[in-house]
Amino acid sequence: TDAYIARIEGAAALNAFITPTPDIARDKAAESDAKLAKGEGGALEGVPLGIKDLFCTRDTLTTAASHILDGFHPKYESTVTTNLFGDGAVMLGKLNLDEFAMGSSNETSYYGDVVNPWRRTGDNATRIEAGKVVGGLTPGGSSGGSSSAVAARLCAAATATDTGGSIRQPAAFTGTVGLKPTYGRVSRWGIVAFASSLDQAGPITRTVRDSAIMLKSMAGHDPKDSTCIDRPVPDYEAVLGQGVKGLKIGVPKEYRIDGMPEEIEKLWQQGIDWMKDAGAEIVDISLPLTKYALPVYYIVAPAEASSNLARYDGVKYGLRVADDKDNITALYEKTRAAGFGDEVKRRILIGTYVLSAGYYDAYYIRAQKVRKKIFDEFQEAYKQVDLILTPSTPSSAFGLGEKKNADPVEMYLNDIFTVTANLAGLPGISVPAGLDGQGLPLGLQLIGRPFDEETLLRGAD
Ligand code: GLN
Repeated sequence: TDAYIARIEGAAALNAFITPTPDIARDKAAESDAKLAKGEGGALEGVPLGIKDLFCTRDTLTTAASHILDGFHPKYESTVTTNLFGDGAVMLGKLNLDEFAMGSSNETSYYGDVVNPWRRTGDNATRIEAGKVVGGLTPGGSSGGSSSAVAARLCAAATATDTGGSIRQPAAFTGTVGLKPTYGRVSRWGIVAFASSLDQAGPITRTVRDSAIMLKSMAGHDPKDSTCIDRPVPDYEAVLGQGVKGLKIGVPKEYRIDGMPEEIEKLWQQGIDWMKDAGAEIVDISLPLTKYALPVYYIVAPAEASSNLARYDGVKYGLRVADDKDNITALYEKTRAAGFGDEVKRRILIGTYVLSAGYYDAYYIRAQKVRKKIFDEFQEAYKQVDLILTPSTPSSAFGLGEKKNADPVEMYLNDIFTVTANLAGLPGISVPAGLDGQGLPLGLQLIGRPFDEETLLRGAD
């Protein structure tokens, strides 16, 4: 714990942490030492973790990287962090993210951009000025603090959340492993809600084994989340090392999108060859509705977000901007105008629009119908195959600022390979699969059957 605290201080320019909690960490580590000395302790006893600042942590500032949650110290602990700390984990601090987890580059955070510890080969332009990295790359988003911190070894592992790719895309951009469990596998209780029917928490780690260990601790039934399923949590570590012999791996032709860089094609082929060499059978499959996934996601996610974010009204949480105590409408308007960033406001506007009378049927209901068909299409595919293999992202990490002021749709295109698993509620994992020509990490994604994280981890391993 002391070593990580020192590294976090030394790497402050990455801006991976919003709130480091060294005092809490040292106290907990001392308790763990005492337990371990007596031969006691849980599965994660003394393991120092970073916690995405979307998980409520009792009495510790929880911001969702938004100005509107200024000063919010929850009186409760999320189920995931309760589980992890119950198993002995140590919290090093709260990790940066895109505001309310909306973004793919960690550039929408009120607390500033997070920097990827990786650089392009021969890049001599990236430098530190006034304590900030200039010219760096994005660590992906929204879990950019989590991915950057794990890649830079500022924590042993981190928690993250994935609504449309926010665990897997940052993992791919930083050479780490990111696991999004099946919807319902991990409790959402105490996690700041973005899009409740898509949100799912999971780990970002250095290795597949670490993801298996973290998932076992994070997962499990929770009566406080009605969508969290009551199923036993398997010993995920036990399946590692079994290999993929005999597994059927599906390769969906629709993921071969127009304009896909050759390097990503090559990476995918490499993954196919690895699987074949290890004794898996490759099956060409077709998922024709893939092209509707992004449009459906960018209707459903903002719709749910607009509803979830209605609670930030200047009364219940955090920031309050009020100059006239008798005018409640002005309090709402001023607080929300000052408290939310541009991307969050954009989502609220889109969401409110697609849910409004007159457009509800045309957009929201229609999107939900297509979503069901996407789910059915996957179910059909899983009659033929055990896992589906795709690239995690259409590119390696891009430069901070490069896409920030472009058309927002360009940023949304980043999620093209990841959103399908959220829409269908399926488990997905991104594993590091080599470097591109610029020396940057690339990730391969596996998508599994609902609640079959074991086969997913076996394939990833
Ligand atoms: N990039 C996607 C979005 O902005 C996904 C975010 C997420 O998974 N939290 O909605």
